[in-house]
This record gives sequence, structure tokens and C-alpha cells, in this order.
Amino acid sequence: MANATYLLAVNFSIGLAFSLAFVSIARSQRVTMGYWFAAGFLSASSTAGVETLAPATSAPALVSFLSFSGLLTALTMVTVGLFRNFTTWSVWPILALYLGFEAAFPAVLRGAARDSAIHAFAYQTPFATMTALGGVALLSGSMSRRSVPERLLAGVLFLTSAQFLFKAFLAHAIGTGASVQTYAFSSYAQYSQTISAILSILLGVCLMMVLMEESQSRARHTLLRDHLSGLWTRRAFFEHAEAALKRKTGGGTPVVILCDLDHFKKINDTYGHAVGDEVIRVFAACLEAAGGDVCGRLGGEEFAALTVNGDASLAQLQVEAVRSRLYNAAFGQPGLRPTASFGIAIMDPDESLAEAINRADAALYEAKARGRNRFVFSRNEKDIAVVLREALLRR
Ligand code: GH3
Ligand code: MG
Ligand code: MG
Repeated sequence: MANATYLLAVNFSIGLAFSLAFVSIARSQRVTMGYWFAAGFLSASSTAGVETLAPATSAPALVSFLSFSGLLTALTMVTVGLFRNFTTWSVWPILALYLGFEAAFPAVLRGAARDSAIHAFAYQTPFATMTALGGVALLSGSMSRRSVPERLLAGVLFLTSAQFLFKAFLAHAIGTGASVQTYAFSSYAQYSQTISAILSILLGVCLMMVLMEESQSRARHTLLRDHLSGLWTRRAFFEHAEAALKRKTGGGTPVVILCDLDHFKKINDTYGHAVGDEVIRVFAACLEAAGGDVCGRLGGEEFAALTVNGDASLAQLQVEAVRSRLYNAAFGQPGLRPTASFGIAIMDPDESLAEAINRADAALYEAKARGRNRFVFSRNEKDIAVVLREALLRR
């Protein structure tokens, strides 16, 4: 066997191995992007397979087309997977571009000599374009939000793209063998397949890291987000609220608002559990829309919101916004007009989050005791001392 044939066999195996790994991760972690990568690497593997068999072929044009088409399909699959996962852009333009490249290929094959520059660039440019588009998908949005594996992958994609253009120069400079059958025996094939082996391992490993990270971040998300309301769970609320307080820079005062739906048990009993769930979902959306920095569902029909740079009047506005949104919400149930009670604590500079929540909870309890569907401001010990002193002075 010629040297490049060994390399083709290696590339065939690399493609197959990564493809199997991607399918198994995609299946177990339910990350669709993995199936696109798997299909891509399978297609790349088939290209190497076709090229390995090329010396024995009697249909060189077909082999040439299959090998071009296999690699282009492979790169398109990877790019589509990245687009679908990392952007909100439509993938149709990519598919149209893919079909355009595929349709133009036979004309290029017929029209240009095998060792001409036009042939070399027409062959490699579609690969370079598709790979660069994958990198662009990763650069979309804010780059600062991209993780290290995602940045690495973008780098490898651009490197791979540049490599295709380099191959076009190389192909034109040293030739790719007199025919499809003798390709595997050319020096070009040895260079090309060596670079392919290195880059496909690099690309595969980076895609694998990105896939693993995506699956981990989804698992974290499901663990920390309440499935019904979409808000942070109790534990996550405390973690995020503590972190937000630590990061605080503005001049406002942190404010904690605790909320609890009124007579919620009666809503469940009258309209059924499914309607109760809908009320929870809608209330959560009303709370989030009112503009708190961290919102969570602490349990059952109890919620909390932290505003890092707030004050009493902003808190009051927030509560009124939630109440009016809830009042205007349509549940499709005659007579259903849920209300909620609120306890508000303006945090002291030296007060912990847990202490402020306790005060807000006491204020919420008071709002319930005073007849529900209202808010009550908690007073801390300092306020109470002032109020008592004022009351004594008034006597
Ligand atoms: P109050 O005005 O004093 O808060 O009265 P309440 O009926 O709202 O409070 P109570 O604590 O007696 O009842 C809360 C109810 O919330 C009981 C529980 O079945 C219901 N609940 C808790 N979690 C869920 C949920 O996820 N979905 C639905 N539909 N109901 C829930
Ligand atoms: Mg309640
Ligand atoms: Mg409750």
C-alpha cells in the first residue's frame, strides 16, 4: 500500500470513532448538536473510504464527486449543528450554499484541468467557506460569553478553513497526481492526509469538549431552574442573590420582596391542579417582568425577588406592577382572579440576605393577617426604635 493509503485508512477510522462517540453522547445527554457532529464525521469517514478505494476504480469522475461531496456534507453538518445550537439564524442559507456548491462541482470538473489553479480553488473553496461559517456561528453574540472550549473550537475551525485554501495553493504547486486513481500515490496526498488527520483529531476533540460542556450546562440549568415557573429554585435563588449582592456596584439599597399567592389552596380545589399550575406560571412571569435582578420560586406558591440597587418607592412600583399584571391576566376560567400578598424588606448595610428574607417573611405574614392582596414594608430594629421614640415623644 502507498503511504497516503495508510493515512486514508487512519482518517477513515478517526471519523468513525468520533462519530460513534458523538452519537453516544448525543443519545445519553440529549444534546441534538451531537447527532449533527456524528453525521458529519461519518460522512468525512466515507470520503476517506472512497479515496482508499480510488486506485481500483473504473469511474474516476464518480469517485471524485463522491469524495468532494462527502467532505462538503461533513463540514455542512458540523456547521448546521453549530448554527442550530449557538445562533438564532436560519440554516436555510447554509443548505442553499451547500446545494449550490454541489451543483457547480460537475461543471468545474469538466471545465478545468486537474492540475489547474481554477480546479484547485474550486475544489477547496467550498470546504473553506463552510468551515469558516461554523467559526462565525461561534463568534455570534457576545464573544465574552463564549467558554474556553468554544473559543478553541472557533480557532480550530478558522485554522481548518485556512488550511483548505493552503491546500489549493499546494495542489496547484505540486499537483495532486495525474488521475483520481494515482492520487493516493502523490506527495500531495501524503501532505493532505497528514494535515487532515491532525486537524480532524483537533476538531473532533474540540467539538467533543463543546458538546460535553453544553450537556453539563443544560444539566445545571435543569437542576437550578424550577420546571414549572422557569424561575430559580430556592437554593439557586440564594446562591444567585448572594453573588449579585457581592458584585453590587451601584448606589441604591438592596431590597428583598417575598410574595405568596392568596388562598391558593382554594384555587386548586375549585379549578383543579392544572389551573393552579397555570396561575403559578403566570405569577412567575409577572414577577420576572417587574424587573427584579434575581427572582426565584422558594416553594409551593411562594416567590422571592431581589433588587440590588433599589429603594422603597421602586419596590412599591415593582409590587404594584406585579399586582396589575396578575389582575389583568386571563386564565380562561370565569370568576378566577388570583391575588397575592407581599412582604418587603429594605436591606441594612450590615444585614445578611437570610436576615432580610426573615424580615420580609414576617412582613408577608402581616400582609396576610391584615386581609391579603396587599404589601407590607418590614421595619428593622433600628426603624422600630425610631418609631417607638417618635411615639414616646408624641405622648
Ligand atoms: P394563604 O392565602 O394563607 O397563603 O393560603 P393558601 O391556600 O395560599 O396557602 P396554603 O399554604 O394553605 O396552601 C398552599 C397550596 O399550594 C397547597 C398546595 O397544594 C398548593 N401547591 C403547592 N405547590 C403547588 C404546585 O406546584 N401546583 C399547584 N397547583 N398547587 C401547589
Ligand atoms: Mg398562599
Ligand atoms: Mg404559602
